[in-house]
Amino acid sequence: MSDYLKIFRDSILAIKSEGRYRIFTELQYDNPKAPVAFSPFYNKEITVWCSNDYLGMSHHDKVIAAMIDATKLMGAGSGGTRNISGTNSPMVELEKELADLHNKEAGLVFTSGYISNQATLSTLTKIIPGLVVFSDELNHASIIQGIRDSKAVKHVFRHSDTKHLEELLKSYPTQQPKLIVFESVYSMLGDIAPLKEICDLAKHYNALTYIDEVHSAGLYGERGAGIANDLGVDDKIDIIQGTLAKAFGVIGGYITAKREIIDSIRLHSPGFIFTTSLPPGVSSAALASVRHLKSSDAERNLHQKVINKVKAKLTETNVKFIDNGTHIIPVMVNDPFKCQSIGEALLRDHGIYIQHINFPTVPKGKERLRITPTPLHTDAMIEKLADALSALFDANNLKQAA
Ligand code: PLP
Repeated sequence: MSDYLKIFRDSILAIKSEGRYRIFTELQYDNPKAPVAFSPFYNKEITVWCSNDYLGMSHHDKVIAAMIDATKLMGAGSGGTRNISGTNSPMVELEKELADLHNKEAGLVFTSGYISNQATLSTLTKIIPGLVVFSDELNHASIIQGIRDSKAVKHVFRHSDTKHLEELLKSYPTQQPKLIVFESVYSMLGDIAPLKEICDLAKHYNALTYIDEVHSAGLYGERGAGIANDLGVDDKIDIIQGTLAKAFGVIGGYITAKREIIDSIRLHSPGFIFTTSLPPGVSSAALASVRHLKSSDAERNLHQKVINKVKAKLTETNVKFIDNGTHIIPVMVNDPFKCQSIGEALLRDHGIYIQHINFPTVPKGKERLRITPTPLHTDAMIEKLADALSALFDANNLKQAA
């Protein structure tokens, strides 16, 4: 055993030596105070600036009430896989609601966004023999894993580079089955993919399209239907994937598409079939959140206002950031040790929590702080954030890092 333990210990030391040993920041939310939470480690309240609960929906009264009511009525767990007693009514409603949101015929809910990508993409090649996959180089780990598990022939195109994508598509005959996989908003840069151009290429070269709308569903487009809807190309995308864990503030993932595609994935995908389904309380909460954001623009409008204020304040205090016109505000540090120490100083000295993002989430040398404002952040919080970052970036000679 001691030999084995040494192997584990060495694997941890290797990560520590690269400055990317992860220490999780424990948070205790006291609901009305969000985005302020109590940190047991620092024994004080801190303001969270890095949550993917982008609109604060996890703290929304309607969402919480839906979770409590359904749990009281239907139990804490779902009781089984979808096939064996685990298909609760709120889940069925949720799938219909998501299909309607994305203007598709049907929807399918998975236990997380990660699983929905992995399970769907790994299954598509089983359904379509000879499928060749074209994947953006910055696609999320769950997409990469799904394609890897599919054992399909895969081509990675340079990030959002439609010329490169076309070169690759061209090298196959028209009748060869093809799939282009990309995201709408990339999570670590906040940039938007050239959706229209990709859809045009897909049509021209006879390819299916799969988009990950994890960082845009709920946030953009009519009724929060995402970027594909906002740009008017949702009808040109064959499979729209999303999460219930970010703008919708709960947990779970999904795909929406034509009825036959959904039915086929439902019948063939091990990641969907062989796992217990989400509990009714979770489905109900997600349903309440999706429904609310379909009819209310208030959260989205306030979100945009806060984002603009944060960007203006950072500019005023001379903190450089990447502005790709979305809600994700990356501040580049490009050094794992500095990134970690700034993150720690923010927490310790300023009561501000922005998780430092290191490898493997971003490439080595591209470490960053990723700021995600929410409608719940106040002007005073914004001021404090900008002042703290400015002081720390000055102290670390990092004003030019972006
Ligand atoms: N897709 C993208 C682009 C993501 O960034 C993430 C998670 O951050 C996921 C999928 C996974 O979604 P979930 O957190 O719901 O598992």
